[in-house]
Amino acid sequence: MSIVVKPLEASTEITATRTWTDEEGGAPLRCCLRDSRIGERIVLGPVTPPGPVGAYAETGPVFLHADGCQGPVSPGYPEDFRGRQQVFRAYNGEGMIVGGALVDPGQGQEQIAERLLCAPDIAFLHSRNVVYGCYMFAIYPGDR
Ligand SMILES: [Zn+2]
Repeated sequence: MSIVVKPLEASTEITATRTWTDEEGGAPLRCCLRDSRIGERIVLGPVTPPGPVGAYAETGPVFLHADGCQGPVSPGYPEDFRGRQQVFRAYNGEGMIVGGALVDPGQGQEQIAERLLCAPDIAFLHSRNVVYGCYMFAIYPGDR
């Protein structure tokens, strides 16, 4: 099985609560799935990521480039996110949570995602921050 990692679409509506020039770097950008770099203009605001439905749809904070973005430079699992412990939360085709897995930092994220997505009732995954619960990106099966 292959997987497809999806960032937030460039057209995602967001009402910025803060926009600034990053002086530290390292903010996980959901538009291009890499960490921000010093000097980049970034925005923090709430987003409801697509997929989950009804009570399972959640709104939370994300960082995005403030002045548009071309998206990820490569389609695979984002390298800047490998060092972060994550939760892969699993959803079925009706957008309801149906399980998940705690994912440690390292190189095994694709295998965990593929194992989860092999279950017939799992349609997609959301990668989320363990402590803050923030949405990072979605993972879909590439061949379903
Ligand atoms: Zn970006």
